[in-house]
Amino acid sequence: MTAAYDEVYKCVHCGFCLPTCPTYLATGVEGMSPRGRLYLIRAVLEGRARPTKDLLEYLDACVYCLRCETACPSGVKYGAVYEQFFKEHRKELQSITYSRYLPLFNALNTGPGLALARVGGSLVKELGALVAGRDVRMYVGKEFKAKGERVGRVALFVAPDCVAWRYKGKMVEAAIRVLTWNGYDVVVPRFRCCGAPYRHSGQFEKSEELAKYNKAVVGQLGRIDYVVVANSGGCQAELMRYFDNVVDVFQLLAKNGVRERLGPVKLRLALQHSCHLMNVAKAHTHIVALLSKVPELKVVPLPSADVCCGGGALYPMRHRDIANKILEVKRREVFEIKPDGILVESPACLQQLSKLGVPVYTPIEILDLSYKNANNLKYLDLEIG
Ligand code: SF4
Ligand code: SF4
Repeated sequence: MTAAYDEVYKCVHCGFCLPTCPTYLATGVEGMSPRGRLYLIRAVLEGRARPTKDLLEYLDACVYCLRCETACPSGVKYGAVYEQFFKEHRKELQSITYSRYLPLFNALNTGPGLALARVGGSLVKELGALVAGRDVRMYVGKEFKAKGERVGRVALFVAPDCVAWRYKGKMVEAAIRVLTWNGYDVVVPRFRCCGAPYRHSGQFEKSEELAKYNKAVVGQLGRIDYVVVANSGGCQAELMRYFDNVVDVFQLLAKNGVRERLGPVKLRLALQHSCHLMNVAKAHTHIVALLSKVPELKVVPLPSADVCCGGGALYPMRHRDIANKILEVKRREVFEIKPDGILVESPACLQQLSKLGVPVYTPIEILDLSYKNANNLKYLDLEIG
C-alpha cells in the first residue's frame, strides 16, 4: 500500500471537515463529504467494497478544493489520497463525467480551439467570462522595465494557449503595471498551461510534460527572483509543485511593502476566496491586508467566503446540479450584502460568480485602479526592455 493511503487511517471520523465541504453542504449526503469519501476509499482498499460506478460517482463529485485539509485536526492529506486513488482508477473515473468533456477541454487549450470558443455559441455560453476578455498575446515574449529603484526581476505566469489565461489581458496588464511600479523588471515568457486541469482529470503524463516545458522556459530566462502569478490559486498551487519560488503578486508586494501612492476606489465589494489560493498558496491574507490600504474601498467577505464556489476543474459542466446549488448559496449572500461587485481571486471563481449578474473584479485590477486613481506620474507608461 502506498504512503498516500496511510492518510486514510488518520481519519478519526470527527466530522470537523463537513461544514467546510461544498458538496456536502449542497447535498447533505455523507458520501459527498471528505469523511464519507475517505470511508469509501478505505472500504475499497480493504476489499469490503468494489469501485463500482455508483461508488466512484461520490469521489468524482469532489471539487478538489482541499478546504477539508485545512479543517482536519488529524492533518489528513485528503488531496494525496484522492490523487493516488484517481491514478489507480483513472479510466473508470474519467468515464463517469470527464469522458464527455475531456476532448472539448483539450481542444480548448490550443490556439485554434480558443479562437473557436469566442464564436461558438453554446460553448461561449458555458464558458462565459473565461473567453470574454482581451487577448494576452500582445504582452507575451516581452520584458517590461522597473520604475524607480529596482528591486528585482520576475517572470509573470501567463499561458496564452490555456483557456484560463488567453483572454485575461486586462489582468495581465494590471499586474505588469503594478509590478513595474513597485520596482520589478517583469518578463512575460511563453509559458504553457500549469498542468493542473490535466492532473485533476487524470491526464498525469500531460501535466508532467507541461511541468517539464515550463521549467525549461524559466531555465532560459537568466536570473529570476520569482515566478509570479496574478491571482490564480489553481495555477499557483500547481506551479508550486515544480518551482520553489512561486508567489502571488500580493505575496510578493507584502515582502517589500507596497509603494505609494494609492488613490481612492469607491467600491463596496463582496469577497469570495479562491480555494487553492487560500488552502495551498496561503496568499489570501496578503490580498485582504493590502487592499485594506486602498482609500474608500470596502471589502466585505461573503459569510461562506472560505467555502468553494463550485467553479473549479470543469465542475459546473460535469456536475451542474451540485455546482448550481453551491452557487445559490453565494447568490443569497450577495443579495443580502448588495455590493457594487464581487472580488474573486481566480479565473475559475470569476467564471462561476459572473453568473450572478454582478460586476466581478480581481484584486490586481482593484490595486491597479487605485494606482491609476492616484494620478501617479508615469504610472500608465510601460517601458519595454
Ligand atoms: S476537496 Fe473540497 S469538495 Fe473535495 S472533499 Fe474536500 S472539501 Fe469536499
Ligand atoms: S476532519 Fe479529518 S479526521 Fe475529522 S472526519 Fe474529517 S477527515 Fe476525518
